[in-house]
Amino acid sequence: MNLLDFIFPRTCAGCGSIGAYLCSNCIGKIESFGTQICPVCTKPSIFGVTHPRCSTKLSLDGLHSFVYYKAPVTKALYRLKYKFVKDFATDLVSNIKLTLPNFLESYTLITVPLHKRRENWRGFDHTEELARTISEKLNLIYESGVLKRKKPTKSQVGLSKMARAENVRYAFEVFDKNKVFDKNFLVFDDVWTSGATLKNCGYSLKRAGAKSVWGLTLARSR
Ligand SMILES: [Zn+2]
Ligand SMILES: [Zn+2]
Repeated sequence: MNLLDFIFPRTCAGCGSIGAYLCSNCIGKIESFGTQICPVCTKPSIFGVTHPRCSTKLSLDGLHSFVYYKAPVTKALYRLKYKFVKDFATDLVSNIKLTLPNFLESYTLITVPLHKRRENWRGFDHTEELARTISEKLNLIYESGVLKRKKPTKSQVGLSKMARAENVRYAFEVFDKNKVFDKNFLVFDDVWTSGATLKNCGYSLKRAGAKSVWGLTLARSR
């Protein structure tokens, strides 16, 4: 134990016990997905591939999520997002079973861009921290700055499904089309809820000529 751990002991994000960011008991409660879903109709789908009947030209081609969005993951993500505990991202990711279908291993991992002002206020982008750690563990190519936000979007918290969709529509654009054309992308976000943000990222990437775009999230509700 170093001096800093002594003065500010690590506490479990799940139950508050002292000693680690996540105690073994809470780690045991993290639940991986058995079945993935189609990002368009949200019904079960093999590997999370978008059903042929659901697929359109600009839709996401699939969705992969690692764990259920429930305690202690909810609490862990909250801490990561608002408490600025930077090395917690590595800690959390190493306690999650990371599996990805083989065909996605050659895809380039990018993140949903955070608006600059919010990033500055928080000091760091927790989504990027998570994505970087995941890319290292899974040996994926990681690229930052592929997408950018066009305008500041209001926080998604507390908005209805309709309002959420409206909030992020046309919110993203591709920074350099040459870096996107004919390429395959995994767009990472921490949680899949309505899917509006990732769908809009997919929309922008596809319009810029991306070949295939999948959503990748650490957690998903239900
Ligand atoms: Zn705990
Ligand atoms: Zn479907």
